[in-house]
Amino acid sequence: MKKHNFSAGPCVLPQEVFQEASQAILDFNDTGLSILEISHRSAAFVSVMEEARQLALELLGLENKGYKAIFLQGGASMQFLMTAYNLLQDKAAYLNTGTWSSKAIKEAKLFGEVVEVASSKDQNFNYIPKDYNIPEDINYFHCTSNNTIFGTQMKNFPSVDAPVVCDMSSDIFSRELDFSQFDLIYAGAQKNMGPAGATLVVVKEDILGKVNRQIPSMMDYQVHIEKDSMFNTPPVYAVYVSLLTLRWIKDKGGIKAMEELNNKKATLLYNEIDRNPLFKGFAATEDRSTMNPTFNLTDESKKEKFDSMWKEANINGLSGHRSVGGYRASMYNALSLESVQVLVDVMQKLEKEA
Ligand code: PLP
Repeated sequence: MKKHNFSAGPCVLPQEVFQEASQAILDFNDTGLSILEISHRSAAFVSVMEEARQLALELLGLENKGYKAIFLQGGASMQFLMTAYNLLQDKAAYLNTGTWSSKAIKEAKLFGEVVEVASSKDQNFNYIPKDYNIPEDINYFHCTSNNTIFGTQMKNFPSVDAPVVCDMSSDIFSRELDFSQFDLIYAGAQKNMGPAGATLVVVKEDILGKVNRQIPSMMDYQVHIEKDSMFNTPPVYAVYVSLLTLRWIKDKGGIKAMEELNNKKATLLYNEIDRNPLFKGFAATEDRSTMNPTFNLTDESKKEKFDSMWKEANINGLSGHRSVGGYRASMYNALSLESVQVLVDVMQKLEKEA
């Protein structure tokens, strides 16, 4: 029986795409070859890459606005250094909202001066700092839209004169935003987009080419753009399954439809966390993530019982990250409302039996 998968990533993907994804391993689009065997230069795969790049821009509402979408490797972690390599000439400003922002800051420091405009480290990153000044003389401002580990999410983004770079690894395609307020968006595929192995970068081309340093080809966004994301062999299967997922998002009604369902799921779970005396939320209420709600038991002696109850209910991946403890219910696009209801039922059952 399929589990209710609350894993933080890799995580649940739309089950509807699996049939096509499996068929492509056997015979990809009647080519008589498996997708695992075809050349990335074949017409069949080139059209996959083209459609995936185009669809990513279309879903974000960024077509014909000077943006390019490319699929790279190395995960979002590679983007921590690649963004700085390509954009950081003198000084950049970073908002520190958690583990991933901190890692991005560490890498950027190798390339220039980094100003940490604010940090929520003082409270174990359970909130998003609101009052801070961003210096004017910066090459870019960097933020993390959703903090996968701590369960906080930026609801508003500062208006900045410099380019804005955003790590959207764990909430891309999950909610409607004016994506044109960002100049570079990056996201590892393995949450809302597809299997691990591909990383989406959407970049406004006019912010590139402004640093003096020599950039090695593999690290250079411009090289990947000029080669249509085929400078080297791309992760063919990961890009293909990402395309299937992007098509699924479009068929379901695009980001708007994803957001509506994600809001329903988040309301259902947070209402229970707030109502049930056995649980308390970890993140500040106004900064709560719709993707990764984090919560703790109010009475730790119930842990063993609760853990065995949710496992019996066929739930997977609910344990919190070691730096927060407690529980994290990752609820990406492909997780159904029914799965969240199963979790809520278990929480209510725990209360009744307490
Ligand atoms: N940024 C965020 C917000 C993440 O959630 C993660 C991984 O979970 C990363 C960056 C690192 O991604 P990767 O493992 O693809 O390098």
